[in-house]
Amino acid sequence: MHPPGCISFFGDWRQKLRERIEILTTLQSVDREIRNKSNAKTVLLDEIQKTEGEIQTKRAEIELFRGNWAEKDRLRQGKEKLLQEEGRKTTDKRMRMTRIKNIKELQALQREIDQMKQSNSQLEEELIKLMEETEMSFASLQEKEQELARLEQEWTEKRAEIHSQLTGIEGELAEAAATRRQVAAKLDENLIERYELIFSRRGGTAVVEVSEGICQGCHMNIPYQLLNEILKSDKLIFCPSCHRILYLPETASTEKQL
Ligand SMILES: [Zn+2]
Repeated sequence: MHPPGCISFFGDWRQKLRERIEILTTLQSVDREIRNKSNAKTVLLDEIQKTEGEIQTKRAEIELFRGNWAEKDRLRQGKEKLLQEEGRKTTDKRMRMTRIKNIKELQALQREIDQMKQSNSQLEEELIKLMEETEMSFASLQEKEQELARLEQEWTEKRAEIHSQLTGIEGELAEAAATRRQVAAKLDENLIERYELIFSRRGGTAVVEVSEGICQGCHMNIPYQLLNEILKSDKLIFCPSCHRILYLPETASTEKQL
């Protein structure tokens, strides 16, 4: 606050300008809060999207893996059935051998049985290989499913936490927006537009102090003439290099600044 003597020295217009600066700095701090909270909200929403995308990808991978395993298992079952049939056929032929008396016929049948045994043993080898593959594949599938279940469980808890954080942030944002409307209502639209443009282009700093003749936004020296204007003018003064709205700290005296 100004000491009473100061106000009378500067006049009412000076006080009005001071109030506008105060409103602008309040608006700036509300806008910074809104920006920070919006950023925090975006980070949380991104995390939801990213994690749920990862889980979705894992689910699709497992589905594909399960499909491959099922296909292999069908092959295994088919070969198993074929081997059983071939086994039965071999047994039948062996049975026939006991009824054959002709030596040539017997030899021919024996050759046939030998060929079948050879082909069955090949079939057996293929079946064993397939069984090993399906077993390994199934173990791997179970591992992947457990991993996914663990991820989903973890995510369910984390998501609940994130949603509660989001609810909190949204409440705070709504409050900040209401405050902003109240603060902004005290300024004219043209000034707000100009302020908003500077705020967005200058990294969230539109209103800055001048300290020891230097703009605290861009750290450039403010020319003497302009410093004099900041002190004496009833208008808002903008930094010639960064275009931010300038003000002098309330305690600054004319002697110190000039
Ligand atoms: Zn500047």
